[in-house]
Amino acid sequence: MFIDSHCHLNFPDLAGKLPEVFDLMASNRVSHALCISVELEKFPEVRALAEAHSNLYASVGVHPDHRDCIEPTVDELVALADHPKVVAIGETGLDYFRLTGDLEWQRERFRTHIRAARSCNKPLVIHTRAAADDTLRIMREERAGEAGGVMHCFTESLAVAEAAIEQGFYISFSGIVTFKNAVALREVAATIPLERMLIETDAPYLAPVPHRGRLNQPGFVKHVAEEIARLRGMTPEAVGEATTENFFRLFART
Ligand SMILES: [Zn+2]
Ligand SMILES: [Zn+2]
Repeated sequence: MFIDSHCHLNFPDLAGKLPEVFDLMASNRVSHALCISVELEKFPEVRALAEAHSNLYASVGVHPDHRDCIEPTVDELVALADHPKVVAIGETGLDYFRLTGDLEWQRERFRTHIRAARSCNKPLVIHTRAAADDTLRIMREERAGEAGGVMHCFTESLAVAEAAIEQGFYISFSGIVTFKNAVALREVAATIPLERMLIETDAPYLAPVPHRGRLNQPGFVKHVAEEIARLRGMTPEAVGEATTENFFRLFART
């Protein structure tokens, strides 16, 4: 069994074909998926998915790439997270690749999410791109480790992974680990402790090989597990078992 720790099932491409999405999850033995919020405006859709399906969970947060949307407050995030199926705060973080200019608002928004996560004791889902130093620094300054969480769709160096793990975080690998040019990332996936590893699709984006370039969906997380298994000399089943255990340890706080 596999769990997709990060997907966007409320995005139009996937929301329109949920029966098909669930069928592929079942045939690829993907038992659960965590639906990630990127805007408060759309959070009710994400929450509704988790309420309607016993194997779906939700997060609440505002993505660092979304500039023109409702800016969340700590109190708002904490209030929206007070729901049995809302298991995480995010996705949040920093992205200096997509947006440029004065991004102080992005760092402030990230701090808001960390404060909310600590306040409601739910883990963070952190997105970081071209901003690793500032991400780790703000995590330390705001004591993100008290909430814990995951560095999602990880594409940084082994040193960054180790620094995040040291702060109590998990590292989640997406379909990027199957891409031909992802040599350094495969090294990270082969090296970090298995008990800190999660797998995800980030669907509808980043479909893994052999579906690269097509619409991604949670069922494809199996291919991420297969690649990690190959890299570590394990069976895909063992990777599935470990990452499933990690998922519930982190998000169900068991
Ligand atoms: Zn992301
Ligand atoms: Zn995402």
